[in-house]
Amino acid sequence: MQVLKGLYEDYSINGMTIQTILNSNTFLKTYLFLKGSQWWNKEKINQYQMQQLKKLLNHSYENVPYYRNVFNKLKLKPEDFHTIKDIQKLPFLTKDIIKKNIKGLMAKNYPDYKFELSYSGGTTGITSYFYIEKGVWLANLMAYSSILMDWIGVNNFQKAVQIEGREDFSWSYQQFGRILVISSFHMSDENLLIFINKIKKLKPKYIFTYPSAITILGNFIKKRKIDHFKKLKAIICYGETMHDWQYKFLKDVFKCKVQSQYGLREQAAFGGTCEVTNNYHIFPEYGIVELIDKNGKTVTKESEMGEIVGTGFLTYIFPFIRYRTGDVGIFTKERCSCGRAHPILKNIEGRVQDFIVSKKGHLAPLTSVYHLIAFTSKNLKECQLYQEKKGEIIINIVKDKNYTKNDTDNILYNFKKRAGNDFDFKVKFVDSIPRTSRGKFRFLIQKLPVDLIKF
Ligand SMILES: [Zn+2]
Repeated sequence: MQVLKGLYEDYSINGMTIQTILNSNTFLKTYLFLKGSQWWNKEKINQYQMQQLKKLLNHSYENVPYYRNVFNKLKLKPEDFHTIKDIQKLPFLTKDIIKKNIKGLMAKNYPDYKFELSYSGGTTGITSYFYIEKGVWLANLMAYSSILMDWIGVNNFQKAVQIEGREDFSWSYQQFGRILVISSFHMSDENLLIFINKIKKLKPKYIFTYPSAITILGNFIKKRKIDHFKKLKAIICYGETMHDWQYKFLKDVFKCKVQSQYGLREQAAFGGTCEVTNNYHIFPEYGIVELIDKNGKTVTKESEMGEIVGTGFLTYIFPFIRYRTGDVGIFTKERCSCGRAHPILKNIEGRVQDFIVSKKGHLAPLTSVYHLIAFTSKNLKECQLYQEKKGEIIINIVKDKNYTKNDTDNILYNFKKRAGNDFDFKVKFVDSIPRTSRGKFRFLIQKLPVDLIKF
């Protein structure tokens, strides 16, 4: 999924802290603002969002040629927008539109030196380019991320472990030994023992990681009955979908708080799970998030899924209005018991591309499938699904020592029981599962074109 896709990779946490604090007061201003605004009630949130939307639309109309054109074509003026829902008068912004209008989306009232070219990767390998505001982009990310960290009782100045995709080393100490960086490319059994000793010595307060990488570490610790890390207060996950079973597994093994953060480089939406549940709080100060169903309509039914469409309040230099993120969220009217009135997404399922396609062409989310495999066989080292034909799933398996034919039978039996005749499953054994160029584990390689919203 796009969850903070690529967001943190180019900025190790130590580098981010120093750069942000030295270079910008945006960080402090935003952080202090959020300290208070997180407790706003619904009315105050709506009022603020409306005021921000008006500001953004005025700015886009005045300074951004692409949007001036959109408004003119639809015979609209910023003053025609009276409620937040009126945003639906504007069309979606897609990666394709951005590609064709990159110049037209750059705000004319910003000096050249403020523009920094950025990009986000896609599942299909298509990279999309856009501009961010130098310095300010990072300061905002840090401010919002810091608030999320506050919720689970950790901060940027504490000792930490970061697990990320590194090809240049398997581990390294940074910022005077305060941060231990571990490579998700190098998580062999031998290396895991080394990493565990280093983590024990460092006594970190939190681990910042892809969920898949920390799950590998957790499995190893559990199997070998190694003591959990006693000083560890939290595990913060980003970059991939966090499955419910993973949330429970990590809490159980590491005996600490587990948080998942959601965001994208385009800064059209940002959120995270709080201290009490595994539901995502979506920051209303950051922008407006809509969930859109396959007919392009707003999702309003409990537990219905939709594509996350974001309008960011922080990126005036290159506005994203009704931006189709390609991520999928589950709608809920529930409010969180922590007392914050934020809109909640029950789950973020990952990219549209993270779905499997049945013989009849229906989409099925991966969460339950992954769960099925994880609990079906304790003798799997890793596994990955591969699909290139409708209704046919190949399960690539890396066997652990005690794997037998029984395990294969179990897996196939459980899949068949759950999926019925909609899918055929085939097992294939492999020596290892390659990571993406950023070191991420991808549970599904989906070769079919998948699009949730069809027009
Ligand atoms: Zn909450």
